[in-house]
Amino acid sequence: MKLSDTMLDSMLAFDNITTANFYGKRNAFGGNVPLENSSSSDADIEISIHYSQTESSESGNRYVLWAYATLLKQPVILTNDRLHLTNDAVFNSHYREYGSVLQVGYCKKCSEYITNLYDVSDEKRRDGDLLLEYERRAPSIHFEVSKAKCPTCLKSIENVSFTSFVQYGFITKEPINVNLEYVRDNILKDKYTTGIIIHNNEKSTDE
Ligand SMILES: [Zn+2]
Repeated sequence: MKLSDTMLDSMLAFDNITTANFYGKRNAFGGNVPLENSSSSDADIEISIHYSQTESSESGNRYVLWAYATLLKQPVILTNDRLHLTNDAVFNSHYREYGSVLQVGYCKKCSEYITNLYDVSDEKRRDGDLLLEYERRAPSIHFEVSKAKCPTCLKSIENVSFTSFVQYGFITKEPINVNLEYVRDNILKDKYTTGIIIHNNEKSTDE
């Protein structure tokens, strides 16, 4: 997985990060693909979900939640993809929402790496083809997965990596379910899904 500075910021900003990794491989019929915890050597996609508790108070504990999706097989045709990370807690509007997409391509003719980075937030909801939207009270990002163009020879070039990222904050008193969907707008409408449970660490106060 190749990350940009924007994507790495959250990894560096928080202590006590909990991480869950998932891999998915679609079958010939596409459709819904539940992601699995174990690594798969020929997976199409790698997903990781991360969270960190930033504050605890009587009104609930504050968390920051984020996820990366990395395509392990590069697209032959352009697709419009969507990464959506939901949960059933109260959205923390004091924390910003972020999304980004990092595309790295390699031009064999020019022996050159080309990097395209797009960033969105609740204040700037569009950057190029990347859009931040809100669905079921949680941010989702929409973007095109296409080949990059070499700025030197103007040829369309293969991606070396393609990673998307979304992040936001929430408040909860209870254990919560987090669900992730990565949907591809291809003929078979491939949809990769997984989830985690966040157990609230706060000690019970009615002991
Ligand atoms: Zn080139």
